[in-house]
Amino acid sequence: MLFEEAASFYEKLEGVSSRLEMIDILTEMFKKSTKDDIKETIYMTQGILAPPFYGIEIGMAEKMVAQAIEVSYGYSKKEVESNFKKTGDLGNTAEYFSCRSRMKRMSHAKFTLKEVFMQMQKIANTSGAGSQDAKVRMLSQLFAASTQLEARYIARFAIGALRLGAGDATILEALSKAYTGTREYKSELENAYNICSDLGSVGYVLLSEGKKGIENFKVSLFSPIRPALAERVATSEEILEKMHGICAVESKYDGFRAQVHMDRKHKRVEIFSRRLENTTKMFPELCEAALKEVDAEEAIFEGEAIVYNQVSDEFLPFQETIQRKRKHGIEEKSRELPLTIFSFDIMYLDGKDLLNKPYIERRKMLENIIGKNGTISISDMAVVDSAKKLDMYFNDAISRGLEGVVAKDLNSSYVAGARKFSWIKLKRSYKGELSDTLDLVIVGYYLGKGQRTNFKFGGLLCATYNDSKDVFETVTRIGTGFSEKQMKVFEDLLNRIKGKKNARVVSVVEPDFWVEPKYVVTVKADEITRSPMHTCGAEGEGTGYALRFPRLVSDGIRDDKSAEDATTSKEVISMYKMQKKGKMSDKL
Ligand code: AMP
Repeated sequence: MLFEEAASFYEKLEGVSSRLEMIDILTEMFKKSTKDDIKETIYMTQGILAPPFYGIEIGMAEKMVAQAIEVSYGYSKKEVESNFKKTGDLGNTAEYFSCRSRMKRMSHAKFTLKEVFMQMQKIANTSGAGSQDAKVRMLSQLFAASTQLEARYIARFAIGALRLGAGDATILEALSKAYTGTREYKSELENAYNICSDLGSVGYVLLSEGKKGIENFKVSLFSPIRPALAERVATSEEILEKMHGICAVESKYDGFRAQVHMDRKHKRVEIFSRRLENTTKMFPELCEAALKEVDAEEAIFEGEAIVYNQVSDEFLPFQETIQRKRKHGIEEKSRELPLTIFSFDIMYLDGKDLLNKPYIERRKMLENIIGKNGTISISDMAVVDSAKKLDMYFNDAISRGLEGVVAKDLNSSYVAGARKFSWIKLKRSYKGELSDTLDLVIVGYYLGKGQRTNFKFGGLLCATYNDSKDVFETVTRIGTGFSEKQMKVFEDLLNRIKGKKNARVVSVVEPDFWVEPKYVVTVKADEITRSPMHTCGAEGEGTGYALRFPRLVSDGIRDDKSAEDATTSKEVISMYKMQKKGKMSDKL
């Protein structure tokens, strides 16, 4: 596909107001792709050079992109800067100067999408002395030969802000439609995606091997699997009911999720976060321990990493554990706060894909390769056949300072990438006085009023994620409780991503500014109420769910969660039902 064609699809995408229109445009675009460029087409649409676990980011500094605009079109730094101040968008600035170029125009070479993508890759891979100049030069080559519309998207892509707003589910539906004529094949494609976490690879296999390739997708080492997620209910009785009278129950550790891939022969270990970022470098002691302690040649297993004192059997709070997620001072912190992984599942062992094996068989395999008292330990587990026994297990976990338990269906496969009743969590907050929180996506913001007018920020419009429709539904406005520091942080962050309302945001209220649904915050509230002002869970009848007295509890953005990891609308409805039944305290 020519990049010119891609750019005109992008322009159309910018103008849509519904997800269905978005799917239609993406479908037309994917129809123009072949197996030789589908990967690049998908990545470009996502605004990335590779899936996050490769850790390759383009993200050029705005200053460098501005420099490339100066060089390509013959303008001064001051002229470009002043235009950028006006537009607030380097894409529009590039477009502006492109059609007013003072340089002798190179004949437009009509490059393909793949060529642009490869040049961007080259830019990202250039490092070392003199690399800044080299990057600017490479980008100018693209600008100098591009049309004005192409220049718009090249600039946005280069700073990592293409922001076409298409989520994973939307891309999968469009791929299905482009290849089969209907959106129905999406679930098979999603299955493949859950196994490899790489939309580009799914597209490539579909176009090169067809449906057969998709249906034969297998787990492979060092390609992270999208994590299984837990549902929630209010009581042990409900869990037993859902699990047909018998289930496994494990302690719920409050650390961070770690998916460990290990290959003994090549002494290679990699650790992926819940968001599937490659976090290997942060945890040297865990990598070392995996090779020393895990009795397998090759394995992919999963657990919760937490700071734990074996001698006192003490679990440190999440605020301590999270300090281990850092880029600097790693060795020192690893001595100060050494982690233990409590392993709770295994997805691959010595050449065998275990995703479709029942939980209880996977557990046995896990017990065979992981012991009890190491840096890599196994999670506590018991099989229970009554609510009373489950309650006893739960109370014991709480008394040990844990946050609750996770019940698991003995016969269930590993349900990658989905929240299903094969795992059900039961936390303190659903049973007693303590409050539970919601992780919400910021979709808009308000300007400051009164004494806050010196800030260009006065509150947030937040949404839940509706995972069946792949849209964001508003659930609350948060206008109080921000510190001055927080206001400044939000002002800066949100100002950078404001723009048109994203087609995947469903709202009846209008904030002062819409932002790209990207950042997640943790919020506490007193109660969930029904409200016509919000679209969360509204369905046909029009009345949604909203939060009473919402306030922020995360210090800032939850950078371990993506927009699609936010609390779902379904979860809010089930929390509302729990609250109504009186099984949950009336405080959330
Ligand atoms: P939540 O983040 O509240 O939805 O709870 C699910 C998370 O609990 C998972 O993503 C894991 O990171 C964590 N977790 C802790 N212990 C376990 C366990 N034994 N089994 C499964 N997940 C666990």
